[in-house]
This record gives sequence, structure tokens and C-alpha cells, in this order.
Amino acid sequence: MARYSRNDQAGVELPKAKLDRESVRQAWELFRYLRPHRVRFGVALVSLFTGSLLTLAFPYLAGSIVDAAVQHTQGGGGDMAGVNRTALLLMTILAVQAGLSYFHFLSFATVGQRSLVDLRRDTYARLISLPMSFFAQRRVGELASRLSADLVQIEDTLIAILPQFIRQCTLLVGGIALIAVTSLQLTGIMLVSLPVLTVVAVVFGRKTRKISREAQDRLADTATIVEETLQGIVNVKAFANEGYELQRYHDGLGKFLTATLRGARLRAAFIAFIVFALFGSIVLVLWSGARLLQQGEITFGDLTRFILYTTFVAGAMGQFAELYSQLQKAIGATQRVRELLRESGEVEAVLGPPPPSTLPRLRGEVVFEDVHFTYPSRPGVEVLQAIHFAARPGQRIALVGPSGAGKSTIISLLLRLYEPSQGRLLIDGREARDYGLAELRAQMSMVPQEVLLFGGSIAENIAYGKPGASSAEIEQAARQANAHEFIQAFPEGYDTLVGDRGIKLSGGQRQRVAIARAMLKNPAILILDEATSSLDSESERLIQEALETLMRGRTSFIIAHRLATVRHVDRIIVIADGRVVESGTHEELQVMEGGVYRRLATMQFRE
Ligand code: ATP
Repeated sequence: MARYSRNDQAGVELPKAKLDRESVRQAWELFRYLRPHRVRFGVALVSLFTGSLLTLAFPYLAGSIVDAAVQHTQGGGGDMAGVNRTALLLMTILAVQAGLSYFHFLSFATVGQRSLVDLRRDTYARLISLPMSFFAQRRVGELASRLSADLVQIEDTLIAILPQFIRQCTLLVGGIALIAVTSLQLTGIMLVSLPVLTVVAVVFGRKTRKISREAQDRLADTATIVEETLQGIVNVKAFANEGYELQRYHDGLGKFLTATLRGARLRAAFIAFIVFALFGSIVLVLWSGARLLQQGEITFGDLTRFILYTTFVAGAMGQFAELYSQLQKAIGATQRVRELLRESGEVEAVLGPPPPSTLPRLRGEVVFEDVHFTYPSRPGVEVLQAIHFAARPGQRIALVGPSGAGKSTIISLLLRLYEPSQGRLLIDGREARDYGLAELRAQMSMVPQEVLLFGGSIAENIAYGKPGASSAEIEQAARQANAHEFIQAFPEGYDTLVGDRGIKLSGGQRQRVAIARAMLKNPAILILDEATSSLDSESERLIQEALETLMRGRTSFIIAHRLATVRHVDRIIVIADGRVVESGTHEELQVMEGGVYRRLATMQFRE
């Protein structure tokens, strides 16, 4: 997998793999997706092969018609009935061929698309069940676009390239064999001139591909400019930089134009050459054919056959370079998909509807016992060092501390997005890692800082906490989250669409939808990541009230950024540099001389 070439369709770099036995064998592994459809695939292959053979009969019969016609006109005993018969046979063959083409085209498309749907589903399932460490080490957007480009390439291969390859091989080998039967001499002439043409075509093709890739890159650059500008349109306008952006775009387009015109010049030259050389070689064949004809070595029909076969063989040769490079790309594409499929998922993948949980409701006791943690993506840095604390069932625990102290990391361990490098995390007295991942997460809920709403209705967004919840349950959760009123105020109420295609909820409204979602899930352990942006006091009050209801009877962890909100929690745990440096109630910590909390509190309350 050394060289990279651009996949024009998806605009993403695709690797090309060497076509050796090992890579083909590996790619073959993916073909197990064809297995459920193997009968249809096999029949399609046979039909394709038969169709290609029938194509080869066409020039032969065309030659026979010409011979029969010539004999008839020269009064050489040929009969018109023979011409008619052959023509009829030709028409029949064409009809059969048309039928076969319809059948194998449809079959390849059906089999290819069906297997691709399975493959897509499996890759997606694997992707979302991969552990967090996988995502932390990769640029996820890039991964997603590459993956989709890979799958498009594999799809193309199954549906178009592989059948083409088989067809062209048959035409090439069959064509040469049949020409040789007709006239060895003419075959010699053709085999000398065609490869020269093919080599020139391949060289030209490479060069134009390189230039067109460059043009694509330049075009992608300009697309990036547009994307950046539109994403930051507020900034652009605030700085009155429209002119600057326009210039940047204009320059980008200029570069694109230069590259693309260079490609166009080359292609124009190529077309001129092909016109001259291709027809030139046909003239050459005609010329030598005519001479052989005069010498009585071949018949008119032979010459006709020969010319037709030559176009077949030339066509096949011309396509081989392209097909070969497509196959290389396909093998490269399968490599990455296979690597992904081979990645191991989370300890236990959480796919499909969760099995009925055998786990009774947790009490919600959480103990961190000397927990150390290092992110797999940053091996040298121990982010948590000997974190030790306990939360009794139903307690409210606030995690406070400077930015980067490790608060979110503690929460990630609690959610088991990562496992501690050392030490133990106990939930209800049992090691967290001994629980089923899905079972455990089913009893936890998080209200994040930035609430992500999915495209869909408000009701669906709340039901994300409990798929399949009834509308009565959804409404009750929304009422408890102080969200019912604002939802009711929309003309379409709970069916109002949110997200890209719908309305945009305010920060406070989104928070309340998230609280309703958590409410519906009814977790034993609750995680609140307090929003840093402050809301107006009415909105703040509604949210605080809703959170109070939500926290009742659950062990709650609050990542607090504003200390005002943690005054009444059961315990405040102060984290600094990955360690617990203080812990106690607001009253206790506030009076600790030289304490971190006291310093943070004084600073914030002064503000
Ligand atoms: P904040 O209040 O700003 O959210 P925090 O206390 O929650 O900060 P963490 O997000 O837990 O802090 O980060 C603790 C340390 O771990 C930081 O130094 C951060 O750079 C590092 N860190 C966080 N996530 C990762 C990750 N995925 N890979 C590597 N390092 C990380």
C-alpha cells in the first residue's frame, strides 16, 4: 500500500495496493460477503462469460455474410438464402446476448449492492463499538470520509470493474485466437502495431491523470476556502473581510484554472494522436489486408472479421490499464476496511437492542480506589494519580478544580470509556469491569455541557434516553425537566423538528431536553457536566429546579465550573494536577487556610 491516487468520485486519497498473491488473498476475505449470494453471483459470471463469447461470434458471422454476399454478386454460387440465414442467426445471437446482458447486469448490481449493504452495516457497527482510545488517536472526520470512499470503490469493483475485467479478458484472448485462425500474417501486423499504441495511451493516460489530480487538489483547496468562510461567516463579516476572502478564493480559482487548462491541452493532444494513430493503424491493416485479398490469400469476409476483431482487441487493450489501476485501488480499499473490521471492539460490543438486563437496580455506591490513568494516545503523561474517594448511594459529589486537572477524565473512567491503568473502580462493591458494559451504562446517565440534539422531533430526542418510551412517559419527563411549557408553546408541540432541518433551541432549552432525556432513563448514577456559558437567571432557575428533581435519590457527580452551584452538595472533591487535593463540604473547605478551594472560591465570589 505505497502509492496514493485520488478517487475522483469521493475526492479522497485512495491507496493503491500491489496486486500480488498476498494482497489478493487478503482482499478475497472480504468476498465472504458475497457468500450468501454465491449462486446468483456464479450464474451471473457464467452469463457474462457466455455473453462475451457470443460477442466474439459477431465479427465471424459478419464476415460470413460478406463472403456470401460477394459470392452471390460474383455469381460464384453463393445463395441469397445463406445471407439471410446468417443475418437471422446474427439477430438471434444479438437477442440472446441482449437478454444475457440484462440478466448479468442486474445480477451483479443486486449481488453487489446487497453485499455492500451488509458490509456497510458491519463496518458501521464495528466503528461505533470501538473503544474511545481508537477515536482519540484518529481524525474521525477523515476516517469517515475515507471509509465511505473505500466502500464506494469496493462497490464499483463488484458491480462494474470485475465484470468488465472478465469481459475484456475474454474478448482479448478470444479475439486474438480467432484472428490467428483467420490469418496469421495479419495477426502479426496487428500485434506489432497495437502494443505501441497501447503503450503511448498508457503513458499519456498517466500524465493526464497526474494533472487532473493536481487540478482536483486545487479545486479542493477552493472548496476549503468556501467552507471556512461560511463556517466563520460571522467573523468574516465582523472583520469586514469579505474582500479579503474573495481575493483568496479568486487566487485559488486561478491556480485551479491553470492546472485544469494544462490538463485540457494534454488531453487535446492525446485525442489528436489517437484519432491519427488509431485510424492510421486501421488504414495499415486495411492496406495489408487489401494486398492479401488481391493475392487471393484471404476473402472479403476474412478482412471484415479481421477489422472487427482488431477493434475488439484494441478496445480491450485500451481498457486494461484503467481496469488494472481500478483493481489496485479496490484491493487498497479492502485493506483499510478489513483493518477496521479486525480492530477489536469494546470489551463487549453494545450492539443490537440491549438484552434484558439481569442486573438489579444499582444502589449507586461508587468508589475510586487509588486509580491511576494514562491516555493511550499520550503514554508519557499520567493524567490521574492515585485518585481515591467514595460516594455513598444518593450522595451528591462535586468535582472542582482548575482546567485540565482531570475532572472529565474521572468521569470517562466512571462511564468506562477507558479502563484505569492501575487501581480499582468499584460500583456497589463490585469492580466496574466485572459488569456488562451495556448493563452498567444503562444505569448511568449524563447531562453534558454541550447538548447534542439529533435531527428529529423533540419527542424523539427525549426518547433517546429510553427508546420506545410512550408519549405519556415522554411528556412526564419533560414536565419534570421544566421543558413541557416551552415545548407546548411550539405550534407542533412535541413533534417539532429540531436540528438542521428544524428549529434551533436555545442553550437553556437544549439543557432541559437533555435533563428530560436523563429523567426518562431513570439512572442510578447521574453525571452532570455543568454548562460553562451562563444563562439568564430565569432559565438558570428552571434548570436548577429540574436538576434538583433529577438528582433526587441518585448518586450524582457534578463537574462544577461555577462554585455557586456546589454549595449544597454532600461533598466537594478538589482535583489539581490529577490528584485529589482536598475534599469536604463547602463550609469545611472554605475555612481551610491556603486551600485550593478557598482560593478558587474567593476568586469567583469576588467576580
Ligand atoms: P476542564 O475543566 O477544562 O474540562 P478537566 O479537569 O476536565 O478540564 P480533563 O479533560 O480530564 O481535565 O483533562 C486532564 C488532562 O488530560 C489534560 O491535561 C488533557 O490535556 C488530557 N487529556 C484529556 N483528554 C485526553 C485524550 N483523549 N488524550 C490525551 N490526553 C487527554
